[in-house]
Amino acid sequence: MKFKTLAKFLNKIENTPSRLEMTAVLADLFKQSQKDEIDKVCYLSLGRLAPKYEGIEFNLAEKMMVRIIARSTKFEEKEVLAAFKEIGDLGDVIKRFKKTKDDFNLSVSDVFEMLFKIAQDSGTGSQERKIKKMAELLEKLDSLSAKYIARIPVNRLRLGFSDMTVLDALSWMENQDKSLRPELERAFNVLADVGKIAFVFKTKGIKGIKKIKSEVGIPIRAALAERLKKPEEILEKMDGQCALEPKMDGFRCQIHFDRSKKFKLKDETNLSLFENKEKYFVRIFSRNLDNTTHMFPEIIKAVQKLKVDNAILDGEAIAFDPQTKKFLSFQETVQRKRKHGILEKAIEVPLKVFVFDILYLNNKPLLNMTFKQRRTLLEKILNKSKGEEKAIILTRQIIVKKPNEFNQFFEKVVSEELEGLMAKKLDAVYQAGNRNFNWVKYKVGMQSDLADTIDCVVMGYYKGKGKRTNFGIGAFLVGIVDKNKFLTVSKIGIGLTDKQWREIHKRCQKLKTYKKPKEYQVNKNINPDVWCKPGLIVEIEADTITRSPIHTAKLALRFPRLKRFRDDKSLNETTKKNELERLLKS
Ligand code: ATP
Repeated sequence: MKFKTLAKFLNKIENTPSRLEMTAVLADLFKQSQKDEIDKVCYLSLGRLAPKYEGIEFNLAEKMMVRIIARSTKFEEKEVLAAFKEIGDLGDVIKRFKKTKDDFNLSVSDVFEMLFKIAQDSGTGSQERKIKKMAELLEKLDSLSAKYIARIPVNRLRLGFSDMTVLDALSWMENQDKSLRPELERAFNVLADVGKIAFVFKTKGIKGIKKIKSEVGIPIRAALAERLKKPEEILEKMDGQCALEPKMDGFRCQIHFDRSKKFKLKDETNLSLFENKEKYFVRIFSRNLDNTTHMFPEIIKAVQKLKVDNAILDGEAIAFDPQTKKFLSFQETVQRKRKHGILEKAIEVPLKVFVFDILYLNNKPLLNMTFKQRRTLLEKILNKSKGEEKAIILTRQIIVKKPNEFNQFFEKVVSEELEGLMAKKLDAVYQAGNRNFNWVKYKVGMQSDLADTIDCVVMGYYKGKGKRTNFGIGAFLVGIVDKNKFLTVSKIGIGLTDKQWREIHKRCQKLKTYKKPKEYQVNKNINPDVWCKPGLIVEIEADTITRSPIHTAKLALRFPRLKRFRDDKSLNETTKKNELERLLKS
């Protein structure tokens, strides 16, 4: 397929308000794509070059893109910048400045290869080379193609659809309806690479999709927990008995290990310090499927010692104090999420992973086994190794049948200063990518009016008055994601420490944008001083949820306050509107 053709499709999608029509256009695009390019078409239309977990990023700021556009169109940088401030979208800016070229004939694969090379360039002088190569590429393209390409390196393609719409469109391509979506979604949940799913579907049809199983190295979408307020209700939902485990408050780690493959870490020094001679394949994925492997050298080291050929483990990583041996708070654990100074931090704040599930073992996916069977296998593997000294620990578990046993265990974990507990249904399979009552979280504070915290996106902020002038921020506007729109739920101006005000201001600076993003739906009376692009996710505590005539989610949080920053969540993982409705009613 010519890139020009892809650009026409993207343009059609962008100008289609109806979701159904958008799916039909995507389906048509997939139909016209060749087998060997459908994965690239998927990634490019989602504004990427690979699945997110591959971590292929351009690292080009909007300012750089302004320079690139100026260079490729031969206009002055200040003219391009002025247009950007006026229009607010780099794609539309280049379209305005660029003269259309009809002789350009690069294919999707050609453009993809060029972009891939640019993104992968690193080291000394790479920024300058990226600018040069990107400008050369844009120069070769017609104005419509350039419009879409200019948005990709700055993460602003956002055509308003997600991996899930791609799955709908694949079904549509075959059956002109969504009937194949459940089977495609099942495959995607266990093998979260939408390009690979599209390739299998295009080459082998639904039969091929039915055969898709999880593979070591490709993330499985995490199973998620529901919330209930009473132990009695939880036991009833779980048919009278359940497993209880302490709920550790760190970050989710899905650990993939394979002894038959060799492994190269980005920064070799990480491993040398941990005196690790063996280097078998390890990949660690976060809750939202980012590849976080390089952040955890001690887990890489510990996993090498497991007496298995290969495995996928699910667990929670939490930092501890080597002197007192006490586990640390989330705020302290989160210091381990970093790109630089990894080794120093690993020594200062070591981690342990509490493994609570096993999803794959010795070439066999285990997702369809019951939790009880999986737990037996997990105990066999982890009990062989010596407990507390290691970085990988089997999560404690008890089985209960009565509410008073439930309450006793809850009191015990609370006395240990843990967050609460997880109740799990013993005969449930692992439902990848699903939030349901197979797992129920029961946390301190959940017995109050509002049964859980809310994860929101920061959409903009207000400059501070009085003391807050020093912070540069006095309140911020938060919202939730609803399909491809962002709806507001609260303005938050209290409950932050000075440190949190400074931190949120710093984070907002990286996201500030000249115009209100077009996917934001905001009441005309709500006008933050500065708009932020979607990217900063915060966990908010509130007293209750109320109906609201002002906020576009039609619901608002009462007495909202910032609990913490949620870098481990993606935009699609903010609290859903129907979850808010349920919290309102519970
Ligand atoms: P969610 O993941 O449900 O969207 P969240 O990220 O805000 O919500 P919580 O609601 O606090 O997290 O609870 C779910 C998370 O708890 C899991 O994703 C996992 O990271 C963590 N967790 C800690 N201990 C356990 C355990 N024993 N079993 C399962 N998950 C656990």
